[in-house]
Amino acid sequence: MTDCPFCGIAAGTVPATIVYRDDDVVAFRDLNPQAPVHILVIPTQHIANAAEVTPAHDRVWARLLHVAQSIAEDEGVDRDGYRLVVNIGRNGGQTVEHLHLHLLGGRQMTWPPG
Ligand code: AMP
Ligand code: ZN
Repeated sequence: MTDCPFCGIAAGTVPATIVYRDDDVVAFRDLNPQAPVHILVIPTQHIANAAEVTPAHDRVWARLLHVAQSIAEDEGVDRDGYRLVVNIGRNGGQTVEHLHLHLLGGRQMTWPPG
């Protein structure tokens, strides 16, 4: 998707602070962090959102979680806990239409979310 900013980050044509990359998954720091640690974990492949995930994506979906777990350890937030967020569509608050896991940590989260 040429007009997708996260495809651009995955391709290296849009700048980002990358914290992890392999063939299937890229992780980078959110431009507008909502917590001391705020990292987005995305599939390299363009998938619009989690509602578009099918059984064909089982492997990459699992990879997103495992990479998020590993980054949480690297960032030192695994012991105190953290939050993974997936926004879907307008009511879900999704603003970028490329599947991403928000990894938020380093402060106490509240519930319910806004
Ligand atoms: P969402 O609202 O769930 O779609 O989240 C999109 C997130 O992407 C927001 O937290 C934005 O701050 C973040 N974001 C948008 N563009 C960029 C970018 N070029 N680099 C890093 N983060 C971005
Ligand atoms: Zn994309």
